[in-house]
Amino acid sequence: MGIRVQLGILIPLVVAAGLVTMAFVAAEQQRIDAQDDLLHRGTEVLEAVGVPAAVAVAQNDVAGLDTLIAHVTAASGRGELRELMVLDETGRVLAHSDPERFNTVCADAFCKAAIRGNGTSWRRTPDALWLGVPAQSGIRWATVVAQFSLDQVNASARRTRVQWLAFAFGLVLLMALGLFLGVDRVVVQPVRALQAAVRRMGEGSLNARASPAGGRELSELARNVNAMAEALQHERNHLEQAVAERTRELQEANARLERMAVTDGLTGAYNHRRFQEGLAAEVLRSERNGYPCAVLMVDVDLFKRVNDSLGHPRGDELLRQLAAVLASTLRQTDLFARYGGEEFAALLPETSRAEAAQVAERMRAAVEAQLTDAEWRQKITVSIGVSVYPDDGKTPEQVLVSADQALYLAKHQGRNRVVIARAAA
Ligand code: GH3
Ligand code: MG
Ligand code: MG
Repeated sequence: MGIRVQLGILIPLVVAAGLVTMAFVAAEQQRIDAQDDLLHRGTEVLEAVGVPAAVAVAQNDVAGLDTLIAHVTAASGRGELRELMVLDETGRVLAHSDPERFNTVCADAFCKAAIRGNGTSWRRTPDALWLGVPAQSGIRWATVVAQFSLDQVNASARRTRVQWLAFAFGLVLLMALGLFLGVDRVVVQPVRALQAAVRRMGEGSLNARASPAGGRELSELARNVNAMAEALQHERNHLEQAVAERTRELQEANARLERMAVTDGLTGAYNHRRFQEGLAAEVLRSERNGYPCAVLMVDVDLFKRVNDSLGHPRGDELLRQLAAVLASTLRQTDLFARYGGEEFAALLPETSRAEAAQVAERMRAAVEAQLTDAEWRQKITVSIGVSVYPDDGKTPEQVLVSADQALYLAKHQGRNRVVIARAAA
């Protein structure tokens, strides 16, 4: 494209320079041709005048000479002949196209040279052509001198020059217009399109593409820019996928961590901390709604014996089975937790004392009847203390203390039973 643009600029300049040179050469050539033609015709006229003029001078026929000069002057058309005169050997004017010059002396250098010359003499000035021819009839009697105007010749040369220059100007103008349109189509428009595409890419639209228009270098540039955008887009997609994957993994890890943070590792029930949080929130909610909520503290009866007789791993297994049975007796909305050791706790939202008592009894009975291992069924039992907010405590701590006291009472009264806090008071 570069070389084409350079040629596009160079060619009109060379053509313009050629045409301007042509204008001057053609005009000069035309001037020389016209001048030669005038010289030729003028010599013929003067030679034709020479013989009768010589006769008239020889006969001293001044009137005849005047008539001859006047006749030739009148016959010379196109205003080329400025003056015509007949001179004697001293330069005196014997006859002249301007009668007032009669008998004057032509002291002009050309007149003198023409009188001295044996043949045709001529001289050119910027605007005139001088011609001198001997007037002979047997011997030389005089010299005929004429001055021809070069105005027409010069004007015609000027016209030719102007025509050529106008032609050169018009042609260069056309070529410049062509160059402008060409550069616009091949360079400016593709550069603008490329610029717009690059701007869109810069603003983040990596799917924007530049059309590979224009010259070879520009289309190659557009293709390279497109390839770069494609590589960036690919890289960005790859990064986005990687980030999405990492984010998902992180979210899963966070969820696992959150579950672990609130879950008891042995039984899968919620842990002590989660129970405390749940109880605090539920007490606030109950206070606002005006509904009661209940807490059940569950303690395995004589659990130490299991550990002592069967070993701790079996004790753990029993804890897992107990948690499953206890949780199965609760609603989705209840919160069941391992409070610590072989103690469990249940939080029952919007539950009255009577309802809580029923649930506690259901739990106790379920443990007795539903443990997976037959050897434990009917043998392993739990004691449960029940307290209700707000009647048994105005704060979470007081409610727990009341439930604990009820549990203590249940143990005291012989285990495998439910004791309601109010009953304890
Ligand atoms: P009580 O009826 O008075 O509650 O008698 P108990 O034997 O259940 O009471 P105690 O508090 O004396 O014993 C609780 C035992 O629970 C003591 C401890 O070894 C056992 N224990 C606590 N946490 C775990 C545990 O995570 N795994 C096992 N296997 N045993 C535990
Ligand atoms: Mg205990
Ligand atoms: Mg116990």
